[in-house]
Amino acid sequence: MSISPRKGILDIVPYKPGESKVEGVDRIIKLASNESPLGPSPKVQDAIERALNDDLALYPDPACTTLREAIAEVHGLRSEQILCGNGSEELLQLLIRAYVGDGDEVILSRFGFLVPPLVTRAVGGTAVMIDEQNYKADIDAMIAAQTERTKVVVLANPNNPTGTYLPFEEVKRLRQGLREDVLLILDAAYAEYPETEDYNAGLELVDNGLDNTVVTRTFSKIYGLAALRVGWVYAPEEILAVLHRIRPTFNVNKISQAAAEAAVRDQDHVARTRIHNNKWLPRLSAALEEIGLEVTPSVGNFVLVHFRDAEQRQAADNFLRGRGIIVRPVANYGLERSLRITIGRDAENDALLKALAEFMT
Ligand SMILES: *Cc1c(COP(=O)(O)O)cnc(C)c1O
Repeated sequence: MSISPRKGILDIVPYKPGESKVEGVDRIIKLASNESPLGPSPKVQDAIERALNDDLALYPDPACTTLREAIAEVHGLRSEQILCGNGSEELLQLLIRAYVGDGDEVILSRFGFLVPPLVTRAVGGTAVMIDEQNYKADIDAMIAAQTERTKVVVLANPNNPTGTYLPFEEVKRLRQGLREDVLLILDAAYAEYPETEDYNAGLELVDNGLDNTVVTRTFSKIYGLAALRVGWVYAPEEILAVLHRIRPTFNVNKISQAAAEAAVRDQDHVARTRIHNNKWLPRLSAALEEIGLEVTPSVGNFVLVHFRDAEQRQAADNFLRGRGIIVRPVANYGLERSLRITIGRDAENDALLKALAEFMT
């Protein structure tokens, strides 16, 4: 006789990460998971080697002390208000698990990141999906959706997979429109990319806003360390005290702690990566439009491209795969006729544009 999981779990459609293989093709161009084309800082390699020469029989620092101090120094924050995690995904999971239970509601934007609604359902909560305007989160509708069951509101800013963002004024307006006891999670995985003056990741809201605001960040995107799984959350100490009770004690391993510390201290590498992105984001967007595709204006390291319909999108995806190029279908977000394309290295972007131009003629 089979054993049943708790209610709600089997209703979850499993998360499908970006693929990295195409049958019969050796050299793949992977533009599917918003990874950094420049990889991590060269200083990371040394840091990893040093950590490897330490005694591997010993447990790592459960508090990630020196990593938190480095993050605090670089960002001008209090290290006591930082908690590191196994990718920011772990921190998003911990936050929702800590505050959401059976019948509670989490307000989310329709095309927001898929992980928070998944975890919400896993803990028996209801994911309340709010429709967007032009692929942007609708602040007024999110505020209006609050009920007495609302526990958490999640806003990815900039958002994945749309690449759009909300100006800081709008984020502040969202916070002000929410009940004080509603937790606002700002998922700022792409915070390092926007060049616009009116963008702000919201770290200052944690200190100066109402109590229950937290910001999650990651080393997986601009820092090029996705393989090592490190993220962090900036939060009021009261909330961290809650997360500490349920988190795995040694959630970030020693190698990852050392690598992330070296990475965050090398802001020159971050600047170089931004320059590459700034060069390609407008170029790629314009080139795609030129061949007749619709592109949602992005401030991230990827673009959301819309085809005529789901059929044409599928054909484009197949065509690209035939040339060893993997991009990301986003039908699981309800975006049936769209593909999300990560900005790659120069030659990769050129190959992608060449292939898509061929497909469109
Ligand atoms: C990539 C991504 C994350 C982070 O993932 P981790 O690798 O777990 O840190 C979080 N939120 C969004 C919106 C992302 O796109």
